[in-house]
Amino acid sequence: MGIHSMIQVKSTSQEHNAAMHHAMIDTEMAGFIAAESKRQQDHIELIASENFVSRDILTACGSILTNKYAEGYPGKRYYGGCQYVDQIEQMAIDRAKSLFGCAFANVQPHSGSQANQAVFLALLEPRDTILGMSMDSGGHLTHGAKVSLTGKWFNIVSYGVNPVTHRVDMDQVRDLAKKHRPKLMIVGASSYPRILNFKEFRDIADEVGAFLLADVAHISGLIVTGHHPHPFPHAHVLTSTTHKTLRGPRGGIVLTNEEELAKKINGAVFPGLQGGPLMHVIAAKGICFQEASTPAFSQYIGSVCDNAAALAQALTQHGYNLVSGGTDNHLLVMDFSGLDLSGHAAQHALEAVGITTNKNGVPNDRCSYVQTSGLRLGTPAITTRGFMVPDMAIIAQCIHQRLSNLDGPVDVLVNQVEQLCQKYPLN
Ligand SMILES: *Cc1c(COP(=O)(O)O)cnc(C)c1O
Repeated sequence: MGIHSMIQVKSTSQEHNAAMHHAMIDTEMAGFIAAESKRQQDHIELIASENFVSRDILTACGSILTNKYAEGYPGKRYYGGCQYVDQIEQMAIDRAKSLFGCAFANVQPHSGSQANQAVFLALLEPRDTILGMSMDSGGHLTHGAKVSLTGKWFNIVSYGVNPVTHRVDMDQVRDLAKKHRPKLMIVGASSYPRILNFKEFRDIADEVGAFLLADVAHISGLIVTGHHPHPFPHAHVLTSTTHKTLRGPRGGIVLTNEEELAKKINGAVFPGLQGGPLMHVIAAKGICFQEASTPAFSQYIGSVCDNAAALAQALTQHGYNLVSGGTDNHLLVMDFSGLDLSGHAAQHALEAVGITTNKNGVPNDRCSYVQTSGLRLGTPAITTRGFMVPDMAIIAQCIHQRLSNLDGPVDVLVNQVEQLCQKYPLN
């Protein structure tokens, strides 16, 4: 199907998807895509790292730009025919710089993990020491988990959260930094529901001569709209995904204000780690940065946070414990420690009634990574559909009904979830 027929489709996204699938010759694959489209339409999506992109972004991702090789950077390519993709990438770079208020942007990383790897390749030698947040406290795999490249190739020291408040233990961060003298400190997380203090991290980094990386994959949408403090000027480098609260295509970015670092980072992304950039995704990232700079997006992120707070409050009223007792951002983690319920069981029970979540470790989790004692919930995706604060009490009620009767009948709840979804069609 050509770009022209795609652009002519001006119905809802479901029809838009259906139109695309009807045109696909590979009917088997089209069938799977259609089934996934229906799943997204009919389920309450509470995975904190997911979102629904705009039709412009979908169109760019599905465009003929996927055909183009463009190794190198705008104006310095290793292939001919790059006059238009140069303009596309330069516009994405300029918009990223203006959105985050910084001097240099690399928009080529294929994912958040690769953005982090580029920073490691640019700044570190194998076996150097990294100080990052442990996974059960909310850190990401790439911050030093044993199974990740980071854990295998670097010396990892991990900080955690205070066992009572579940806030980052800054005294521990300082003690570990002084003792281990890391070359890189990472601040950022995948399941931390509270505000991060970038300045305190930078003060410690300066005390020990470390670089500070702010990995704001989850909270970048909050940062660019002023709903979370900004990592700059404190961080030396910022990495983010573009597909979480930023609501863009799946991908990563690396930002900095320092020219020397920018040069090293560019060399690390290409040719250090990647070959040809995904120009269709880079165009979509450019659209995302534009959308994220609008007042409508600020309002959206405000609603994301209001919804998360309302969901946290409603679950608390049903008697559930939450990591840190609540949330300041777009996500919360239910803590089942001491209950006869694992994150794994809760995830599957909720999935059976159309509520999509993910199991998650909690601070000092006694369960394995497979079972876990927690469940992470986030509001970015449902807020994009239009869910509002009063709906959070209904969702909490559905969650409670299901979790308090794991073997009970599902029909009534399935209906209720579908009705709620029909009230806010995906478009
Ligand atoms: C999601 C996430 C990443 C990785 O992003 P991928 O695109 O899945 O590789 C990195 N860091 C943090 C903190 C994240 O939450």
